Amino acid sequence: MASTRRTAARERTTQQTRDVTRALTGYRKKRDFALSPEPNGSASASGGRAGGRLFCVQKHLASHLHYDVRLEHCGVLLSWAVPKGPSLDPAVKRLAMQVEDHPVAYGAFEGVIPRGYGAGIVVMWDTGVWQPVVDDVDAALARGNLPFVVLGRKLAGAWSLIRAGRVGPAAWLLIKQRDEWATRRDVTRNAPGSVVSEGDFAEVLARAVNDPWPQHPPVVGGATGALFRQVITAARTLRSSAASSIPARSRR
Ligand code: MN
Repeated sequence: MASTRRTAARERTTQQTRDVTRALTGYRKKRDFALSPEPNGSASASGGRAGGRLFCVQKHLASHLHYDVRLEHCGVLLSWAVPKGPSLDPAVKRLAMQVEDHPVAYGAFEGVIPRGYGAGIVVMWDTGVWQPVVDDVDAALARGNLPFVVLGRKLAGAWSLIRAGRVGPAAWLLIKQRDEWATRRDVTRNAPGSVVSEGDFAEVLARAVNDPWPQHPPVVGGATGALFRQVITAARTLRSSAASSIPARSRR
């Protein structure tokens, strides 16, 4: 009896590992972990607790500025890229493009991706926990309507992800539901920085071991190129003022 139970438990674990491995195939295919400091999503490192409900939003300056909203579900992080970021105003629907599932360990990542897929800077913009307001998350996703609540540092209360329909299967809308956490204040503008470290893109870049883009940033043209240049300049200023504040004695 006991050994049957143990076998069943082992099979369940194997099954779960296999599902996570398959769910992360797309994630791994896009990345070269020799070049990127991102979590590699190996089963042993994926780190998801059974029934874990991590929530995070990573602000990501890459080919375009966007906010990656992630919800832990069955050992992976369901992920949506939100170009304009979340809005606390229930009247505002934000386009959220569903992207590949990410490893749970990604929920602890803040840093610089020097080159390759997603090259740029990741700032941990919000973290917390979430809870679906439905029994069956997979059925809700298939139906294209996932109601949930989050308890983060910046975002809280009731939200919905609703499939946008005609725009294509990956297009969803992220919408704040009416409750006491709804407000018309612009949270992306009023609370731009990291919740796990000091500062924003420039500070995260300044802490990178080496200047990853001595020649030119991942994007040169347009508004994104201008933002990269501004962040790189600010990071150089931060680095040089940090260097000059070290007492001469210890500097040699
Ligand atoms: Mn991203």
